[in-house]
Amino acid sequence: MAPPLSLLSALSSQTDACAVLVRVTRVWESINKRSNQLMYTNIILVDEEDNHMLATEFEDMPNYVANVKCLIEVVGMVIGYGQLETRSNGARKIDVVLTNARNEKIVVALWESKASQFHELLIAEKDVPLIVVITGLMVKKFSDKVLLSSSDATRIYANIDYTPVKDLRNAIAAATGNAAENLPKPTYNRFVTAEEPTLQDLTIKEILETTLPNSAAVLRRTCEATIVAILQGEGWYYNCCPRCSRKVQAVEGDYYCNNCAKEANDFKPRYKVIVRVEDTSARTTFTLFNKEAEQLIGVPVETLLTQFSEAPGMTVIPPIINNIIGKMCAFDIKINSYNTERGYEEYTVYRLSECPETTKEAPDSHAPGKSTKRQKTG
Ligand SMILES: [Zn+2]
Repeated sequence: MAPPLSLLSALSSQTDACAVLVRVTRVWESINKRSNQLMYTNIILVDEEDNHMLATEFEDMPNYVANVKCLIEVVGMVIGYGQLETRSNGARKIDVVLTNARNEKIVVALWESKASQFHELLIAEKDVPLIVVITGLMVKKFSDKVLLSSSDATRIYANIDYTPVKDLRNAIAAATGNAAENLPKPTYNRFVTAEEPTLQDLTIKEILETTLPNSAAVLRRTCEATIVAILQGEGWYYNCCPRCSRKVQAVEGDYYCNNCAKEANDFKPRYKVIVRVEDTSARTTFTLFNKEAEQLIGVPVETLLTQFSEAPGMTVIPPIINNIIGKMCAFDIKINSYNTERGYEEYTVYRLSECPETTKEAPDSHAPGKSTKRQKTG
């Protein structure tokens, strides 16, 4: 006999043998991008309370492996977008900022074919305000920030004849006092974020001369500069405690985190690359931590450590890291009392964005002996 019908909200991972009455609203296939083989079929189920569930069907097995992932769709006006970039794992990505009539903003990360599709859309619709419906988005949380990320199910619809799109266009027009056809067009942002005001752009000389309003202050500034050298001596990676992200110490063959006061044999290697940078005003040093270093180097630190297993340790810089010499980037950096009072440079880089190739030319007049030539990675 069939069990009584349950609602999706009542299901948990402990629930088994229950029956639900649902409508299938969307079906798509997940393909393994390397082998091009079908991995499974995804199905979105909706019940009478309008709760959604992603069900995943592994091949033709009769049991559905339900997942509490929730896919959402958004309607918003595109106000900003970043560069179409290729991540170190080869994935293409573009970040997009959407706004609604209440001037709230959210960042949507579009990946792979969705990133390319959006990029083409920007070119095709460049002369008009862009209101989009993006479906099949996953909700992700980074510290307290919410970010939407595309999935295999994502579809992008731009300026379509659809009531929510028209309503949003009219509501934004009313809220901003603009005519509906005069709404702002998407603009390119070097750093895509939902909430920060645009950071002040400084030269290196201005960074070096910056004073803080008080010793606890931390300033965020951006700076466009060229990497002219990698600092030797301090190494290029460190072993990081997975709990507090600080450096672990080797103690008699074991690893120990002083901050957590416990064993940390599950440490993870993380890039910490100190680069000398210059612009036309001066030179200084910036510290690139894992994510930003990987973004420029193009491979995760683990890969390098595997390849360079016979390398003489962390003080010798692998050639592939020297390849970032000559790159011109916009850096989003932090200035704090470590820099201003204690006199250390090594400004921490929060984010970076590589400047397009056409403008990438190392200032040669005061970079004696610094080669901008790339080395082979193999
Ligand atoms: Zn720790």
